[in-house]
Amino acid sequence: MGFSTKQIHAGVEPDAESGAILTPIHQSTTFVQPSVDEYLAKGYSYSRSANPTVRALEKKLAILEDGYDCTCYATGMAAIQAVLQATLNAGDHAVVSDVAYGGTYRLCTKIYRRYGVEFSFVNTASPEAVEMAIKENTRLVFTETPANPTLKLTDIEAVSAITRAKGIPHAVDNTFLTPFYQKPLDLGADLSIHSTTKYFDGHNATVGGAVVAKTEQLDESIRFVQNATGVIMSPMVAWLTLQGTKTLSVRMERQSANARAVAEFLEGHPKVERVSYPGLDSFDQHDLAKSQASGFGAMLWFEVEGGLPAGKRLMDSVELCTLAENLGSVETLITHPVTMTHADVEEAERQRVGITDGLVRLSVGLEDAEDLIADLKAALDKV
Ligand code: PLP
Repeated sequence: MGFSTKQIHAGVEPDAESGAILTPIHQSTTFVQPSVDEYLAKGYSYSRSANPTVRALEKKLAILEDGYDCTCYATGMAAIQAVLQATLNAGDHAVVSDVAYGGTYRLCTKIYRRYGVEFSFVNTASPEAVEMAIKENTRLVFTETPANPTLKLTDIEAVSAITRAKGIPHAVDNTFLTPFYQKPLDLGADLSIHSTTKYFDGHNATVGGAVVAKTEQLDESIRFVQNATGVIMSPMVAWLTLQGTKTLSVRMERQSANARAVAEFLEGHPKVERVSYPGLDSFDQHDLAKSQASGFGAMLWFEVEGGLPAGKRLMDSVELCTLAENLGSVETLITHPVTMTHADVEEAERQRVGITDGLVRLSVGLEDAEDLIADLKAALDKV
């Protein structure tokens, strides 16, 4: 079956009792056992360990990512944290993309380092740099591609070949493209991570996360952390995410088409110094963008002539584009990573990896492209 069919039907079936077409919200802490000897006969005991509504979403996401199974979490950060906890012990080392969501960097440097885990933040766009950074005690390679916010790409196949040869799991944060456009596990990675807050939900309604594992063994070790730490997704969030996921492909296609139109407009505007969108010929990793994903997504960034003050003026002047954190929603969101999403990355580290002060990030939504362009044009006129 094709992706659009699977995003609607995979993992769910009409309710056996009532025939309700939508998976019920199983808002219940506990599940009654028929007898002591038949404990877990129906698969459920307590909602921290497993909940039928959450399981329906987990099964759907596992199928969409071509994985063995999936675990869902309270947030995307909780999903990333589960991967770190399942794979790393004190004294271990992890290689992490030098450009990634600021919260990932914060989790590694401000929390896991305290527990004696060592990190190298590496330019994972270079498979050679990844190989060189791997040490005797490396137990995880974590990449984010396209990376938030610079959109730097990692060659998933090349990095996975290196990690496979060394027996190290390769986890990919696939939030920006979703399995509709990019399937890390098919390219050789072991884990595909999502902030479901973004495109799976798509409507700015929930925060959530997911980890799809390629093998039973990896899934089991992560599911153990999910239950032991209790960072689970709630049934209500799972239910909303189930509904959002049914339209993922349609939203991704339309939002990506809008992003291309906006990127082309910005590229031709005299007050815009630089535009970065993987679908543009001018994107430095355009060939890799084409070869490892079937679409370019709906994230882009640009710099306005005049640097930070000009960028701020633009972000304060737009009316249809909304100044807010988050991405992937039907609403177009404009963000200043240096003050918002990446504020906890030290200035020197930001400069080193190209998160410049004037970088304006745009998550292009589902509005009419002409209206978005008119809004940006009016704001650029004020700069
Ligand atoms: N991964 C990426 C690429 C993100 O952009 C974000 C949040 O912006 C996260 C993970 C964290 O997700 P959440 O905010 O749901 O915890």
